[in-house]
Amino acid sequence: MQGAYCAVCGEGLHIPIRLDAGGSSNDDARCLLCQRVDPPFERAVAYGSYEGELRDLIHLLKFQQVRPAAKILGRMLAETIAGLEQVMPVGKIAVVPVPLYAGKRAQRGFNQAEMITRAALKRISRPERFDLCTGVLLRRRETGSQIGLTRHQRRENLRGAFAVGDATQIQKRDVLLIDDVLTTGTTASECARVLLRAGAARVWVATAARTLKIFDVIALPEIAAEEDWDEGPEGTDRRLRDHRPQDHRPQDQRPQDQRPQDQRPQDHCPEDQRVAGHG
Ligand SMILES: [Zn+2]
Repeated sequence: MQGAYCAVCGEGLHIPIRLDAGGSSNDDARCLLCQRVDPPFERAVAYGSYEGELRDLIHLLKFQQVRPAAKILGRMLAETIAGLEQVMPVGKIAVVPVPLYAGKRAQRGFNQAEMITRAALKRISRPERFDLCTGVLLRRRETGSQIGLTRHQRRENLRGAFAVGDATQIQKRDVLLIDDVLTTGTTASECARVLLRAGAARVWVATAARTLKIFDVIALPEIAAEEDWDEGPEGTDRRLRDHRPQDHRPQDQRPQDQRPQDQRPQDHCPEDQRVAGHG
């Protein structure tokens, strides 16, 4: 599966790719978005794409409160985290599940991200490296659905939604942010920013699933230019040609990023109007 996914964010690369300067293999392949702007997190990995059985499992857990599904998802997540752990710097990793707003959590009875995090940490091969930190990251308000929002609305929707309560638990530490699904990376990016601002050394992201958007080659230059990590389009197309779980065995090193600074063009992204998913 090497080369089929962005080395940074895990986005599908069913398109002609450009290697980073100095890169000589597909291990360094980046999606157009990650070529243009570095995300605030080091890397985002997922067990598989958000469809089929994996999607069913997540729906069972979230929408039907079938708690045993968390165990299975946790096992998957443990596998993914084990791969990521190999490239994370030494030291104890602060594991932070993406929080739900209190009202939502009460309504559902649990936070699915926290539940699969706990399940994963029970299965992980080196549990001593990980330190579950709940209550560090707080969701201060309900953010509502991201569905149907334009990129600007989506960014507005999340602005100020997250805060760090007890920063001492994450200061100067590597933080592993966990969520059930990653779509645009908007939520992960916002959480990562807040954690970094509060003093985290680096933020890494692991999710059970992620949506993959596969761009129309013809539309590529425009779409690539319209996106950034604040507000990319979500799950616009899942015409996957490969349903196997993603393998994100990270490479030993990535070439230094020598891309020019963000050159943000004007917006009118048709992808914004075709949004689905979770943010
Ligand atoms: Zn990427």
